[in-house]
Amino acid sequence: MKAGLVFTLITIALLQQVAAQRDCRSFSRQQEHMENDPGLRSRITALETFTLQHSGNNTAGRIEANVIKIPVVVHILYHYPSEKIGDEQIIAQLAMLNKCFRKLNADTVNTPAVFKSLAADCEIEFQLATADPQKKYTNGIVRKYTPITQWGADDKMKLSAEMGDDAWDPKSYLNIWVCNLDKFAGYASFPGGDEKADGLVLDFPVVADAGNKTIVHEVGHWLNLRHLWGDEYCGEDGVSDTPKQASYTPGCPTTIRITCGNGPHGDMYMNYMDFTNDACTNLFTAGQKARMRALFAPGGPRNSLLSSKGLNPPLIFESPLPAEDPKWLEARIYPNPAINEINIDLNYDARWIGKIFQVTNLQGQIVMTVPVTSKFQKINISHLAPGMYFLAAKKEDGVSVKQKFIKL
Ligand SMILES: [Zn+2]
Repeated sequence: MKAGLVFTLITIALLQQVAAQRDCRSFSRQQEHMENDPGLRSRITALETFTLQHSGNNTAGRIEANVIKIPVVVHILYHYPSEKIGDEQIIAQLAMLNKCFRKLNADTVNTPAVFKSLAADCEIEFQLATADPQKKYTNGIVRKYTPITQWGADDKMKLSAEMGDDAWDPKSYLNIWVCNLDKFAGYASFPGGDEKADGLVLDFPVVADAGNKTIVHEVGHWLNLRHLWGDEYCGEDGVSDTPKQASYTPGCPTTIRITCGNGPHGDMYMNYMDFTNDACTNLFTAGQKARMRALFAPGGPRNSLLSSKGLNPPLIFESPLPAEDPKWLEARIYPNPAINEINIDLNYDARWIGKIFQVTNLQGQIVMTVPVTSKFQKINISHLAPGMYFLAAKKEDGVSVKQKFIKL
């Protein structure tokens, strides 16, 4: 009994450690993009050269002095009412993000003495947009109902056509999507990739926890920072003042960890770009700051944000719309016209399974009833006379589908 209890406690402790461990999909997502976009690799190489030119000792092209202010829009994709999270959670996340980027976080005192002189105020701030791309009033937070209950790290949440929400012009805004991610706490796009997918994605529990620093780490990627170990054994992160380290750091170490010959000071595991527990990360370095700010130099991929109008006073005020009920999207029917068989794609809402579809002719007579057994339902129409038909179904909540198709 006692041994069982100890085992249970150890298991719980291990699970908590796993839960606190950062899981980040950004790098592997970039690798996938490279496979699908042959030009991406050369764009990344060109950006590395640009970054070296604008972050090194040559200060001519360097972005200096001014605090860079980045307009932010947060797209909250909710399915259940509990996911319609409040403004205060978003505001708390951005407050924490800004503290870390301005080195105003209280735990900066925990930075080891040997690394303290490297810790930087990045002079970058993030503010919820005050004007949308049409210059209309906004508080920078968009809430949108989606029939999708869970998302993969595949960028579909960034597209309205996939039941997500389209990005606001990424040249002018940092887009952040908050949704129910299936496996990961969050991921970000690196600069230079597909504009429609530019921004970061965060899971609901991350945003609900004001002390969670996933957003800091992911914005680091969005501003071109890599993991400290360069995603390979003793790899390169493109920053000279972060020591090389063998791999990511689990948990929260209490001793110096020497890897890749980085003694005597060892790994900088308290850097936001490691996987260390949030409570134990507390710095970006001057080198990381220079690498991030190089993106804002003329010709750099984030330069356009400096002239964004997203933080201007809005030119158009509209009285806010009343909260709307979820807008149900259409089932897709194909092929249409059809000869023998039609397919109904109900993937947008699996709750149609178990309902009955009725097929009626132009005279309003029911010619077929079809129980829905699959998200991709096939219906044999070979026996129907040529003409126009309607396919209709209704759920308990009164939501209905009605679409026409033509039998040839
Ligand atoms: Zn990461």
